[in-house]
Amino acid sequence: AKKSGRNRHAWFDHSMERELQTRNELESGLRSAIPRGEIVPYFEQQIDLQSGRLHGFEVLARWDHPTRGLISPELFIPIAEETGMIAEMSLSIMHQAFSAARDWHPSLNLSVNISPWQLRDAWLAQKIIKVLTETGFPASRLEIEITESALFDNLALAQSIVGRLKNQGARLALDDFGTGYSSLAHLRALPFDRIKIDKSFVISLNESADSAAIVNAIVSLGESLNLPITAEGVEDAAIEARLKALGCAKAQGWHYGKPLSPAAVRKFLAERRLLVQH
Ligand code: C2E
Ligand code: CA
Ligand code: CA
Ligand code: CA
Repeated sequence: AKKSGRNRHAWFDHSMERELQTRNELESGLRSAIPRGEIVPYFEQQIDLQSGRLHGFEVLARWDHPTRGLISPELFIPIAEETGMIAEMSLSIMHQAFSAARDWHPSLNLSVNISPWQLRDAWLAQKIIKVLTETGFPASRLEIEITESALFDNLALAQSIVGRLKNQGARLALDDFGTGYSSLAHLRALPFDRIKIDKSFVISLNESADSAAIVNAIVSLGESLNLPITAEGVEDAAIEARLKALGCAKAQGWHYGKPLSPAAVRKFLAERRLLVQH
């Protein structure tokens, strides 16, 4: 696999002092970034492996900073979570992403990431449904991705939130599967429709026998539980071929291209005649 291209984001000096200063700067900057529209969705292709067709996109947050350039969600999502800004930010990203999808071909789907923190908000489902209604994006084309990390201090509330969303037709995916502990217990906690294999196993699939065994086991598990598998972090054709042979349902990763800005995704779809006129 290729070396991961982490350098596409702005990275900062790693000395502690600088880091603290940056963290304070990021936190105060983030507060105004949301109303200014600087937190934007990028779109990563999701491919149906067996047909080779475009299934849709995963929505990935970016901070389009006026002086620092694109800032990675790995830097600002944790801050947004700790400060409670994640709720507003997430709804803003969804609003932008669903609006962008208004003139996309109706076969195209969207996956959005929900922080476990958001599952403490008893009104989360209603808020998401409101954004769907406002933008006209059908819940049946929406998948919600949840990570198992720090999952659900209030399981009953999380269950009721995802129950409401699923009643509208949305689907639920367990993200980063294999990375936390008690992954299997979490599979039973919520009504998941899909498992996403973490990219750490996929990237090393053809180089590490252990990774191959783990991916194999997850695909078999998915088959037994009737849960299709999405592999993330597909960086080359050899890995794609291996996943396809294993019976993996969907794939995403840099092999298909880097995540696209809203303008770039429009151009991409127009070239493939996947935009519709209203
Ligand atoms: P994730 O949900 O596991 O997303 C996959 C990450 O892997 C993305 O990084 C994506 O750009 C990267 N990636 C995709 N293909 C490849 C590949 O072939 N090779 C390698 N090495 N990496 C690949 P990104 O966009 O930096 O996102 C990082 C994390 O930030 C996400 O991990 C997700 O946990 C979080 N995140 C992003 N957007 C949101 C959001 O809107 N809300 C929440 N709550 N979290 C978000
Ligand atoms: Ca994800
Ligand atoms: Ca993931
Ligand atoms: Ca992740």
